[in-house]
Amino acid sequence: MDQCVICGSTNIEHECVTHRAEEFGVRSVEFLNTPLARCRDCGDEAIRIPRYVQVARQIRDRLCALNRALTGEELALLRRELNMTATELARRIGVNPVSVSRWEQGHVPVQQVADRLIRTWTLAALGYAWRDIDRLMQNLPENGIDRVQIDLATGPDGEYWIETHHRFGGQDTVWVMTR
Ligand SMILES: [Zn+2]
Repeated sequence: MDQCVICGSTNIEHECVTHRAEEFGVRSVEFLNTPLARCRDCGDEAIRIPRYVQVARQIRDRLCALNRALTGEELALLRRELNMTATELARRIGVNPVSVSRWEQGHVPVQQVADRLIRTWTLAALGYAWRDIDRLMQNLPENGIDRVQIDLATGPDGEYWIETHHRFGGQDTVWVMTR
């Protein structure tokens, strides 16, 4: 921001901070180098998340690469991004909707089959081929990541994605698969 939305001051300072991705409903995901604007007069702070759509996509991609079980809120994020209700998820896995609710609220650990299915569906929705999904899932124990950190300064990157500005002739960031 160049002008404070609270007090109208133009006395704004900028810095980069580490920020937990609570906008996405997951406390486990961290944004590095998040642009923060602070009003020197009233103290109001604003965070900007650039390339929001691509970042949201990268969060899903990275959550699927975790070498540990998904938490309830991670499961819930992936489910919502698939436009699936908790009831639909329960039906597709073959469990009672109450079970999904307990997982997502963190009362009990997410069942392994639910964890694997939500990752598989997510990777398929992100455009991965089934062959690659199988390989990625099999390699999770050795090659998975133990935390999700997204560096907003360098642009989203990771072992599965690269960034390009040259496709479709636009200014927007476009993601292509590297494998
Ligand atoms: Zn202000």
